[in-house]
Amino acid sequence: MLWSWLKRAIRAEWLGPADLPNSLTMEWRLIAVRWVGILVVGPALPFLNLPLNHLAAAYAILVFATVYNLVVRAWMQGRPDLFASGYVTTVCDSLLNIAMVSVGGGFSSPFSYILFTVTISVAMRYGFGPAMAMTMLFVAGEGIEIILLRQAPDAAFAFRSGFLMVTAILASYLRSLTVKAELALHDRLGELQRLYADLAVAHQELLSLDEAKTSFLANVSHELRTPLTSIRAFSEILLSYNDDESVQREFLGIITTESERLTRLVNDVLDVTKIESGQMEWRDERLDLVALVDQCTRAFTPLADHAGLDFRLELPALLPPITGDADRLQQVIHNLLNNAMKFTSDGTIALRVSVCGEWIHIAVSDTGVGIAPSDQQRVFEKFQQVGDTLTGKPKGTGLGLTICRDIVAYHGGQLMLHSQPGQGSTFTIVLPIARTERLAA
Ligand code: ADP
Repeated sequence: MLWSWLKRAIRAEWLGPADLPNSLTMEWRLIAVRWVGILVVGPALPFLNLPLNHLAAAYAILVFATVYNLVVRAWMQGRPDLFASGYVTTVCDSLLNIAMVSVGGGFSSPFSYILFTVTISVAMRYGFGPAMAMTMLFVAGEGIEIILLRQAPDAAFAFRSGFLMVTAILASYLRSLTVKAELALHDRLGELQRLYADLAVAHQELLSLDEAKTSFLANVSHELRTPLTSIRAFSEILLSYNDDESVQREFLGIITTESERLTRLVNDVLDVTKIESGQMEWRDERLDLVALVDQCTRAFTPLADHAGLDFRLELPALLPPITGDADRLQQVIHNLLNNAMKFTSDGTIALRVSVCGEWIHIAVSDTGVGIAPSDQQRVFEKFQQVGDTLTGKPKGTGLGLTICRDIVAYHGGQLMLHSQPGQGSTFTIVLPIARTERLAA
């Protein structure tokens, strides 16, 4: 019981308070070391055959050392600036030890062993230089004592001086090893912390990728189910319906439309997954952009006419040749023109091509419903169809703009959107001339 209490008390005294800053650890350990010194020297003093006045002086020094250690212990945390460097306690410890050595009978008395403890503690705090200086001070002190007592330096003086120096060297060497190990540990710790942070970011990215994949799968399944359900329902009705031929034709029309929608959806899903997984086969070649745009407009003009929309084309006679995949770039322009037509009930659709410094701009504008500022980022995301849900979902897969953005990005460009709700939208394909020419080289 008493033993375990004692063990706990010794441990607590050695470790110090839980909130002790690192800079004070060494100073706190030296408090415990001082207690050991006081406890060893106190009971040993009567056995050293000291004259009575020296014995009294030695006990006085011991009492002073006890008070000093208590004061250091009490003030340590309150005045870390005073103690962290260790200068104050080093000076006090040295003075106390020299006083004890003097009253105890000089450097040749058993008290000279204390000098080794002081040397070690100085080496542990400050390293080789100060420890050696302290050793030289002790050697010089003993030298002066020898001269004052008119004695000749003996073997004991030589041994003491030599071993004090060896102690200083070994203790400072141990200190330098500890400091190096601590620095290396600190470096490793910093590196580990950086690696851990990188790992946490990668983990987060993987989680969000996984989440995106799951929601993509859920969206695809949901979008596939709608046309499949109608195809199945109308086919089943047709199987048992023979009466009215016009109704039969209407049902077949619905089945065809839904099948087309299904095909579009499957094609779009394939495009998105191929582009985003890097498996798309691109057929890059030198392109005549004038011919490419011209071809798109020839297919589009009759559709715009049919929808009662005015279609305008601004195409320079000459454009710098660019390198890219003709089919894919046409797919982007078609998609933008079709969207413009889908979301414009009357007015104008315009296709303007221009050169802007190092860039070619292909802008598709309409005077349609427009897109609210809060939705302008969202329309480029997968399966995002915005606008008035009351008027029904527009025909489409919600993947068109995602594919357009990815194709333009492959060509080193950007797909930009400017839109005013109620006034219309402009989607601009911005392609870098420099990059496309570099590809061609
Ligand atoms: P979808 O195949 O459904 O058209 P997109 O990715 O091409 O899919 O477009 C996503 C959504 O962006 C559309 O459903 C529509 O809400 C909006 N949008 C695209 N183009 C226009 C446009 N020219 N005018 C207004 N809204 C548009």
